Amino acid sequence: MNETIITTSKIRRNILKTENSKVLIIDDSEDILFLVKNILSLESFLAVPVNSAIKALEIIDNTFDAIILDLMMPEMNGIEFLKIFRGKKEFSHIPVIVLTAKLNTEEEIAKIFEIGANDYVTKPFLKSEFTARIKVHVGLKKSTEDLYRTNKMLKRKYKDLQKAIKREETLNEKILERTVELKDANEKIEELNKALEYSATHDALTGILNRGAILAFLENDIRRSKRIKTSLSLLMIDIDFFKKINDTYGHLVGDSILKQLCNLIRDSIREIDLFGRYGGEEFIIILPDTNVEQAKILTSRLLTRIREHNFLTNKINLKITISIGLTEYILDESIDLIIERADMALYEAKQSGRDCMKIH
Ligand SMILES: [Mg+2]
Repeated sequence: MNETIITTSKIRRNILKTENSKVLIIDDSEDILFLVKNILSLESFLAVPVNSAIKALEIIDNTFDAIILDLMMPEMNGIEFLKIFRGKKEFSHIPVIVLTAKLNTEEEIAKIFEIGANDYVTKPFLKSEFTARIKVHVGLKKSTEDLYRTNKMLKRKYKDLQKAIKREETLNEKILERTVELKDANEKIEELNKALEYSATHDALTGILNRGAILAFLENDIRRSKRIKTSLSLLMIDIDFFKKINDTYGHLVGDSILKQLCNLIRDSIREIDLFGRYGGEEFIIILPDTNVEQAKILTSRLLTRIREHNFLTNKINLKITISIGLTEYILDESIDLIIERADMALYEAKQSGRDCMKIH
């Protein structure tokens, strides 16, 4: 950062540093050219003498650090030169020191500064004052150039920084877009997976677990019962005279009854219990951590609730009943055995006049 700051001491150093500072001397007098060249050379300036303003315009370039300009010259005088020279923007920072023998009026001197002169020295001049003035102007010119360079560099840095910021913003936007896209895609996949899983494990008509799913859960719960030695009860349910309902009122009524019954059972069981459709009008309920005595209470309640419920269809209001086979898991038996026993219990309930439960 230090090199980008132009300090007073730096200007001072620039002023004192005359070496390789190039000064153009424009004067029609060979004597003056010789004199000024010598004075400046003694101060280590690189002095370039030229005896006409027209020639000066031809050779001037940005390597010059100052111009010493005579006013009275044939062909093109100093004022004319100054007007043309100050019209050239690329040289605007090169100082022009007017050196004249003519005694100008106060207004004329003001005019000379107005046109673009940086200083005004009359002949004859004091050597040390003259060189001191040239040094100050050259030093200021160099400091101006330093400032200009610094400004340019800062502008470039600022531009680079803005570019970097813009790039960062664009990248961040893209990352954000990509993240949102990925999130959306993931959500869709998850939804799809859920839908797939749901349709693979649920009965389309009633929305309860299908046969495959309820049997898988039963197997899982049996393993759990074995492992932690806890009881498990199983209910096998069948709707009484369901065939008759279908035959009398049609399958749409039958389907509606099935849905209503499933909702009712779902509302009647506990959170931990699992309910699934085993086949046509047959259902299974798994009661984990429940022995047969506890299961009996739940089963009686269920029978009553269904018996008392009014099933509404668009054709008729119906009362239905169910029969239930209840059994408890016996340690180390297979899934087939417990289902078989629940089936037998259900068969017995049907044989005993239906709308009841039997325990096996
Ligand atoms: Mg002259």
